[in-house]
Amino acid sequence: MVNKNLGPLVSTDMTRCINCTRCVRFTQEIAGVMELGQAFRGDRAEIMPFIEKTVDSELSGNIIDLCPVGALTSKPFRFAARTWELARRQSVAPHDGLGSNLIVQVKQDRVYRVLPMENEDINECWLSDKDRFSYEGLNSDERLTKPMIKQGGAWKEVEWNQALDYVAHALRDVAKEHGPASVGALVSPHSTLEEMYLAGKLMRGLGSENIDFRLRQSDFSGQRAGIPWLGMRVAELSKLDRVLVVGSFLRKDQPLIAQRLRQAAKRGTQVSVIHAADEDLLMPLAGKLIAAPSQLPERLAQVVKAVAELKGATFDTKATVSPEAKKIAESLVSGQSVAVLLGNFAEQHARFSTLNWLAQQLAELLDGRFGFLGEAANSVGGHVANAVPAAGGLDAARMLAEPRKAYLILGAEPERDCADGNQALQALKQAASVTVLSPFKSAAMLEYADAILPVSPFTETSGTFVNTEGRAQSFQAVNRPLGETRPGWKVLRVLGNLLKLEGFDQDNSEAVRDEALGGNGSGKQAPLDCLDNAISGVAVDLAAGGGFERVADVPIHFTDPLVRRAPSLQRTRDAAQPTARMNAATLARLGITAGSPVKVSRGGTPSILLAQLDAGLADSCVRVAAGHTSTANLGALAGAITVEPA
Ligand code: SF4
Repeated sequence: MVNKNLGPLVSTDMTRCINCTRCVRFTQEIAGVMELGQAFRGDRAEIMPFIEKTVDSELSGNIIDLCPVGALTSKPFRFAARTWELARRQSVAPHDGLGSNLIVQVKQDRVYRVLPMENEDINECWLSDKDRFSYEGLNSDERLTKPMIKQGGAWKEVEWNQALDYVAHALRDVAKEHGPASVGALVSPHSTLEEMYLAGKLMRGLGSENIDFRLRQSDFSGQRAGIPWLGMRVAELSKLDRVLVVGSFLRKDQPLIAQRLRQAAKRGTQVSVIHAADEDLLMPLAGKLIAAPSQLPERLAQVVKAVAELKGATFDTKATVSPEAKKIAESLVSGQSVAVLLGNFAEQHARFSTLNWLAQQLAELLDGRFGFLGEAANSVGGHVANAVPAAGGLDAARMLAEPRKAYLILGAEPERDCADGNQALQALKQAASVTVLSPFKSAAMLEYADAILPVSPFTETSGTFVNTEGRAQSFQAVNRPLGETRPGWKVLRVLGNLLKLEGFDQDNSEAVRDEALGGNGSGKQAPLDCLDNAISGVAVDLAAGGGFERVADVPIHFTDPLVRRAPSLQRTRDAAQPTARMNAATLARLGITAGSPVKVSRGGTPSILLAQLDAGLADSCVRVAAGHTSTANLGALAGAITVEPA
């Protein structure tokens, strides 16, 4: 039997294959698309790929685990080590809001493989490819190994005490000279709870309330009753009988939540979507409303109105109910266990608060649940750690729109991780001092920073992620830090000491965690009493935009600094260069065809991208991926965009 090329993640040794068809059934039944099949019959039967000869599902790595004979193996791991040489250590995935449980296999302080650790309540026995293969980024050439400071425009490696002294002086001097509010902290939502908590404490110790981890959010209006979360346990998703998903690239943003809903849909759960792109979710849909981003609030209002009418209630809105909205409403009203879920795209929407408020009204009318799918490992944890500004402080968007004199960046690459990467870059470049705590360096960072401190990625530090259901999952380091890298919480604690701030005397990360969790410190219990998705004081805005509108997705392998440096994932179809996707009518309006170069801009330097046909977009929408250097200059994730033939 001939070996098959299944893409950059899965290798084949088909002479071992016993034709059990477990891999075939996985792709069909769990991943939702039959990417492998059995051809020929009898002793000539062969497993082979169907669709353009590679396996491109975001869950493809699971076929490696379930092949009983090793005919399917991990391409990045193959021949790298013998399995009996590897130590197995437990950890938690640092990417999406699910917090999949991991077994990380290490040898001589290097991670060689990541496997799923079964947890029926969270990831069951599966892993997304991102969680499985992103470990390759840990060995990136861009890993920092020594602290660096910039002197006279030149970078030099220094000892830790020198670097920490430099940063402490820089922060203190700027706060003294320009006032504490001139200092701000931008924290990656993939940081640990302990790092986020100490970063917040450090800012407050300096007298500044400017700290935020909601880097891709742009609308912060309205008053929140508590911490936004899934609104239920992850496992309860499987028991819903009606679900409306609003503003989500569900398969790519939360692959295993998509998988749970796919299994539920097979058992009869009716799933509907409201979104700016008609994505194939690989499950039957009861209804869908696809519209330009600016029209999503009005479409959601239509569904709320239709449900109110079916329930004999009133909902005061100018929206007129369309047949599609009525179909979704009828599906939702007919259920016993209903949920309305807001995805990453909704959270990143320019009128996020309106969507939040409408979804809340809808869930109340339906007597159902309402939740957020959770963009990052600590999207809930960031709130628990209080890495958000209190009254008088600036949120992430305002810290960049109203540039500060000094920034502390924790684990993020603002030019790719913020809602407006271009604005972030300009704000950082004008600052008198920018300190970055990160495992990685980048070309942009070397330009805007003046101190770079190497801090541990999740495998080299103990820490906690609070997942989207509010479950605090603590983990230990699986290997020693690379070079002179140090755990982020320790670096922040020492900075607190150097700045002579109160409350920086924790001996270990568990003490920081317990303090952050407010005494609820076993690390296993969710602080459920502070979770609440309600929002009030929202100026509901249903106005539609005009002209060309950007639909910005953050592709699965562009979301955070670790996965962006994982070479095998960067060779997958999901990591293809950004294009300008448009439907046929929009291409015709521009007088171009698919494959032609187009100039896309938001007033600044344009990006030259190839036009691509995407029948799943509304008219005048241009889908351009974010999180990539080639599109960072396009600025905000939402809003009007200029497109013209290049
Ligand atoms: Fe062959 Fe392995 Fe697939 Fe079974 S799971 S059919 S042994 S490749």
